[in-house]
Amino acid sequence: MMDRKSVLSHVETVVVKVGTSSITGGANSVSVEFMDSVAEQVKCLRDQGKQVLIVSSGAIGVGLAAMNAKPKPKEIPIRQAAASVGQGILMQKWNESFEKQGLIVSQILLTYDFYSDREKYLNLRNAIQTLLAYGVIPIINENDVICVKEIDAMFGDNDTLSAYVCSKMDADLLIILSDVDGLYNRNPKIYPDAEIVPVVTDVSSVLGMAGDPTTRVGTGGMKTKLKAAEICHEAGCNMIIASCSEPNGIVRAVNGDDIGTIFLAGEKERKKSRWIKAAHAKGTLIVDSGAAEKLMKGNVSLLAVGVRDVIGRFERGDVVNIESAGKVIAKGIPDYDSEDIFRIRGIRSDRIEAVLGHKSYDDIIRSENLVLM
Ligand code: GLU
Repeated sequence: MMDRKSVLSHVETVVVKVGTSSITGGANSVSVEFMDSVAEQVKCLRDQGKQVLIVSSGAIGVGLAAMNAKPKPKEIPIRQAAASVGQGILMQKWNESFEKQGLIVSQILLTYDFYSDREKYLNLRNAIQTLLAYGVIPIINENDVICVKEIDAMFGDNDTLSAYVCSKMDADLLIILSDVDGLYNRNPKIYPDAEIVPVVTDVSSVLGMAGDPTTRVGTGGMKTKLKAAEICHEAGCNMIIASCSEPNGIVRAVNGDDIGTIFLAGEKERKKSRWIKAAHAKGTLIVDSGAAEKLMKGNVSLLAVGVRDVIGRFERGDVVNIESAGKVIAKGIPDYDSEDIFRIRGIRSDRIEAVLGHKSYDDIIRSENLVLM
């Protein structure tokens, strides 16, 4: 039987994600009691020698309440305005709670590109490592004021954001504190005999338990949590979903008590592969069925001869989708830009130089720069 204590015995870096309903306790303003308890538990973990980062939601909810605004679901500008009001209030409250524990906090507001832009990621990692070295608690949120779904630049939910943070910071454990107790095998609002699934080894086997978020049933919000679990699994990070009202829940989760649901980490996928998978694709290479078949076998490179078409403009080193029969089958980093690939599409590698007047590689994308989706 899986023993949580031994699974978690080597945990050094923990990311704790707290949702809006946990922070507000369902009311209009922040719950000082809850935030104090988080700060106390983080202090306890730090005393055990662990590094802790927090991903805190609540900016929009707290801001809307402060502005006495009640926008319709699609009214994005009010939410962005509210986020800028609420974020300040939120940080003030976190500061007060952590001050009681003698700890300093820092605010980090992220947009999606920290994941796909290597320079931004390195800057972020350096900043976070320095903060941790100084004993500061980083408190992360999405930069909601400038993130808009329509421009494909928004995480939209902090479950996903926190999983990406774990992946990038090589965290060992993500704890999602929520108003649900864990993953249920069926909707607990409809089925009183629904039970919590204590351990998940294979996330794909429980995707059906997420429920439909539009119905806002008891398992509502579980879809994004399961997506987070998938990201964590690939990043070699364990994840626990637990109730925010579980007394001392953070410390107990880290120390291996059987609370909520634990999603076990998979083997760490190469960092580069994780990065390629999550990066925003700048263009698409359409490949023929022969090339697609070869790629699907894994560990091969993409040759010009298999490329049928090029969509979008991109430079060498950008990430692109590789598509066959209307489906993205892989992603990769080409060694030629979009114009060159367009010119050499469909030709054999030994003719590249004759067509382009130069040649960097035989392959359009080398195998080490390719990941299957
Ligand atoms: N970033 C949003 C906020 O601070 C929360 C997103 C979420 O609830 O996951 O209000």
